Amino acid sequence: MARWFTTSSQDFSADFSAFLKEPRGDAADTASAVRAIIDDVRETGGQAVASYTQKFDRFEIDAISLKNDSMSLERLAKDCPEDVRRAVDFAHDRIEAYHAAQNPPDHSFEDGHGMTLGWRWTPLSSVGVYVPGGRANYPSSVLMNMVPAKVAGVERIVMVAPTPDGVMSPAVAYAALKAGVQEFYPIGGAQAVAALAYGAGDLAPVDKIVGPGNAYVAEAKRQVFGTVGIDTIAGPSEVCIIADGSVEASWIAADLLSQAEHDPSAQSILISLDEGYAKEVEAEVKSQLAVLGTEETARQSWNKHGAIIIASSMSEACDISNRIAPEHLELAVAEPKTHLTKVKHAGAVFLGAWAPEALGDYVTGSNHVLPTSGAARFSSGLGLFDFMKRMSVQSATPGGFRHLAEAAMALAEAEHLPAHKRSVSIRFEKGTDV
Ligand code: NAD
Repeated sequence: MARWFTTSSQDFSADFSAFLKEPRGDAADTASAVRAIIDDVRETGGQAVASYTQKFDRFEIDAISLKNDSMSLERLAKDCPEDVRRAVDFAHDRIEAYHAAQNPPDHSFEDGHGMTLGWRWTPLSSVGVYVPGGRANYPSSVLMNMVPAKVAGVERIVMVAPTPDGVMSPAVAYAALKAGVQEFYPIGGAQAVAALAYGAGDLAPVDKIVGPGNAYVAEAKRQVFGTVGIDTIAGPSEVCIIADGSVEASWIAADLLSQAEHDPSAQSILISLDEGYAKEVEAEVKSQLAVLGTEETARQSWNKHGAIIIASSMSEACDISNRIAPEHLELAVAEPKTHLTKVKHAGAVFLGAWAPEALGDYVTGSNHVLPTSGAARFSSGLGLFDFMKRMSVQSATPGGFRHLAEAAMALAEAEHLPAHKRSVSIRFEKGTDV
């Protein structure tokens, strides 16, 4: 069962720190395997991609040209059931509206000395979206990665997704078409990431790669960063729930398990203000696990990485959550909004009894690609900004130039860069009448 901690215990801080440091996920060294795959793709392009696709996904693709296969999406999408289509459409529109509201304004201002300064936001030209598909299918991930790219105005959106044994979900195909995919390649793993970064066959390189994946995909993204941009390196998923006993114990148990069923390395943590209530939740987890279709995965996650922490106040509970910096945080308390300012680090926050994380995974409209493993201390979930860049813009009147020239020349001299100084002084000498 999950580990228990009590903040009043003398060793809590040290014990809890040790718990947070415990490794989760695949400890195997994937770096060298991924390096070899990337090198092969750089050397032989589509040939290497085809051979790794045959090896890992048991699927034969056109080695020489590595063709855009978006026609296969059209064929597959026809088999997507009507209720799933409606759900995809519904989620798509909400995700589109949420991300459209993030559109950042351009800005410029005058400094009162003859300078006009500001910035402009422009979309990336091309993006590669990695849709994981080795062990399960994720139409929601297609939408979460592709819709913000489209809203940002990215011109070329390429999707890759592995199709083990040549099989792909009609729901993924439908979601991709709904989101406006233009190019699709049925490839996955490190070879797909390398193909997106360096090009292979007909697949021309993209400027940025986004999307979650397993340890090989994450490591490949780390290794191609610099040649292309990436979103984040996603680790195993996690939820932290702060509960004051005002929400049904069975609901909290269901929320903890909705995270645990993702992956044996997923982590679900309950911070409760009341020991009796925490025991009720634990008992509920046990009985719900027994009838869960994903019992084996969820049980492994809960037994190995789950935790129940008894805290003495909301302030203390939020402090602990801030130490975790969880990917998802549920404030399952009576007055959640009054405690929101205490939350400093979390990927996404869900307030109150009626906002379970599962809604955010699919349909609130906010993005479910979020920082994991404590990365919420320094980063945010995927958003419109990830598909845009900010350019600074400055212009000077002759008077503005004169106002800045002396300091610029002095700094150029201090840095021993005479051409820099000359670029200013040559104008300064000319512009004596301004
Ligand atoms: P995947 O698409 O990430 O990986 C499949 C690929 O892994 C294969 O095509 C193969 O090329 C490669 N691979 C497998 N074994 C290999 C080996 N021994 N050597 C080299 N390459 C190998 O699909 P997956 O494996 O199902 O993993 C999906 C991951 O994405 C899961 O961890 C899931 O939790 C995560 N996910 C995260 C989110 C999110 O938003 N955070 C959403 C959906 C999925």
